[in-house]
Amino acid sequence: MEITITRATSQKPIPESSTLGFGRYFTDHMFIMDYEEGNGWHNARIVPYAPLMLDPAAAVFHYAQECFEGLKAYRTDAGRVQLFRPDCNARRLNCTHRRLCIPELPEDDFLHAVKALVEVEQAWVPGAEGTSLYIRPFTIATMARLGVHASSSYQFLIICSPSGAYYAAGLEPIKIYVEDTYVRACPGGTGYIKCGGNYAVSLLAAQKAEADGYSQVLWLDSQERKYVEEVGAMNIFFKVDGKVYTAKADDNDGTVLPGVTRRSIIELLKDWDYEVIEGRLAIGDIMQAAEDGLLEEVFGSGTAAVISPIKQLDYRNQSAFINQGQIGPLTQKLYDTLTGIQWGRLPDPKGWTVPVC
Ligand SMILES: *Cc1c(COP(=O)(O)O)cnc(C)c1O
Repeated sequence: MEITITRATSQKPIPESSTLGFGRYFTDHMFIMDYEEGNGWHNARIVPYAPLMLDPAAAVFHYAQECFEGLKAYRTDAGRVQLFRPDCNARRLNCTHRRLCIPELPEDDFLHAVKALVEVEQAWVPGAEGTSLYIRPFTIATMARLGVHASSSYQFLIICSPSGAYYAAGLEPIKIYVEDTYVRACPGGTGYIKCGGNYAVSLLAAQKAEADGYSQVLWLDSQERKYVEEVGAMNIFFKVDGKVYTAKADDNDGTVLPGVTRRSIIELLKDWDYEVIEGRLAIGDIMQAAEDGLLEEVFGSGTAAVISPIKQLDYRNQSAFINQGQIGPLTQKLYDTLTGIQWGRLPDPKGWTVPVC
């Protein structure tokens, strides 16, 4: 894949690290590639960041044929820039494309595009503790037809946003509402892929929980409202009586998104000789374990926060309190290990990091 590069003629000021937040500032360039039936993916280019011009009838606006990925570039103490397991994102994007009838994108092209854009934007990769450059690849259906059919044309784009330290003052355990009315995903649906539709349907529950003082909701299965699936847009782990449980996440099926962070945590836990159980875990059993003093640690996992410790679960009229509101030792160790590898402070025996420049 050849990428043509058109440099921006003026550069935006790069914001102070302390003011970054998440997803508020965007860099000077973006990557775009087009797809048309018969012509395949073509015209890979890096151009100045700018609004898109799309036909108002484009399928993305009406039938939500679109999807995204999320990963980060990290600046090491030596000043180099590296990615964390971008091959997993490349593969997952294609699982998503297949489910949404979007033509697949060669994984090498995805990696090449991400690296090329990050290299152009390297000055935007912040260096302060806990900061990174968030990378958002996404695909949209562009065919201007209102008939309900898979589009015959698409654009694949990548934008980048410098992102602040997720935890300004150490890891802050959060309070969670166990949602037993609304659901995020159902069997045979799209829970296992990263499509915007999954997010649109999750907003109302999140908004209500937030109004009641919760950080997020814990999603239960759609059939019985009995088994735990995810927390907000993160995977969730429970340490009960020494063993670690998380919902099963299939690459090609199911209601749980197979997170790259989730998968990395499972690999680390197995290396550390923990028993990890990927399966169905009933919310009733979790509440009971808390009552019996066996619910030791609970945390969410995802690229943005890496790990988000949970201190309280409210289910119907019952509350489970976890580890006296403190982050648990295993949660802390996982956080330190993952972030250590991501920012290049720890050795990377599994070859998870990929240098860019
Ligand atoms: C992106 C996402 C995750 C986390 O995946 P990572 O690859 O670890 O960032 C978890 N759940 C949902 C619903 C997601 O969209």
